[in-house]
Amino acid sequence: MSFEIVTVPCLSDNYAYLIHTQGKTALVDAPEAAPIAAELSARGWTLDEIWVTHHHNDHIGGIAALKEMFNPMVRGAAADAKRLPKLDAAHGDGESFDFSGVPVQVLDVSGHTLGHIAFYLADAQAVFTADSLMAFGCGRVFEGTMEQMWTSLRKIAALPGDTMVYSGHEYTLNNAKFAKTIEPENADLLARLEKVKQASARSEPTVPSLLAEELETNPFLRAGLSQVKSALNMNGAGDAEVFAEIRRRKDSF
Ligand code: ZN
Ligand code: FE
Repeated sequence: MSFEIVTVPCLSDNYAYLIHTQGKTALVDAPEAAPIAAELSARGWTLDEIWVTHHHNDHIGGIAALKEMFNPMVRGAAADAKRLPKLDAAHGDGESFDFSGVPVQVLDVSGHTLGHIAFYLADAQAVFTADSLMAFGCGRVFEGTMEQMWTSLRKIAALPGDTMVYSGHEYTLNNAKFAKTIEPENADLLARLEKVKQASARSEPTVPSLLAEELETNPFLRAGLSQVKSALNMNGAGDAEVFAEIRRRKDSF
């Protein structure tokens, strides 16, 4: 089974993704319609489905216009249906749906918002995480608790290491600079920082990223490690507590 996954830059730093397999096309998030419609027409694709990760306008702002152009079905979280544009299918945590013969699993990854979901396609080795797990970082915790966000990130971290992580924004360079303040001696992290600097200098997207690399370098996934706890003088603290400290530091970085 073959997949084409196309990254579509939108607004100032958002990413939408087109997933094309066996003649059908789905879109993950719709920050704005124009660049997505342009990409579809350049490839001669129509739009069959839109999958919404969360209610923020920079992820749903283009849905109404795309609905008018292509009449796709819209899928999103049952838990947040009242804040999302009208859903044709509402999904709960752990539920799977079929897309063009491919199983897609819905994961609740609340924290950034309540009812934020991710879409996992094991067959494509791809997870679409928007503002939960991000390249070298994670989204701000606006609506959920720190504990909840930590649980959500661990859920994504438990997927196979060869999974590619398709996140919602180009925040990677800033995330990388912050990561260095947490683990200045982490050689994998420093090497990745250099790669990210080069990609940013060429204005190239730094997404998707490999989950295995996130596990080695992303401080928000590493809050449970003893070397991270001791670097923060938090030996003996709970993992979620350490995550919360890292998140608070990033908020004011
Ligand atoms: Zn958001
Ligand atoms: Fe966002």
